[in-house]
Amino acid sequence: MIGGAGRPYEPFCGEDPRRYLLRGEPAGRRDETVLSDDREEEREGENPGIFCRTCAHRISSDNDRIAVNGSHTHTFFNPAGLVFELGCFRRAPGCLVSSEASNQFTWFAGYSWRPAFCARCAGHLGWRFEKVDHAFFSLILANLKNG
Ligand SMILES: [Zn+2]
Repeated sequence: MIGGAGRPYEPFCGEDPRRYLLRGEPAGRRDETVLSDDREEEREGENPGIFCRTCAHRISSDNDRIAVNGSHTHTFFNPAGLVFELGCFRRAPGCLVSSEASNQFTWFAGYSWRPAFCARCAGHLGWRFEKVDHAFFSLILANLKNG
């Protein structure tokens, strides 16, 4: 069933993204990562895009990068010990978000979350975290590329 049902919110890799949220633990080193600001090629009047690494669909933009809990990037481990580096974005118009929200164990206290996928290729890109008065996207940087 996993991966073959054609549901748009199921990642093609066959792994359940909720697994990481339920069982992943914060790395506790979130300030160690370096922002990529120094390689921005920002031109006046332009808003450099953030794209799906798989299909190059425009997902978000550099101007939509935000800091959450004091940092744009956050590092988490999944149960296999693989590191996820996530970047936080104010919005991600290129994402489709699962209709299923969960408030089970969450990386960001007080937020529930939904898996977020590329609107073009349906690749798993991260999660949308939500609470009553605030929402943001936390996207897997390894699955994105700068324009
Ligand atoms: Zn894509």
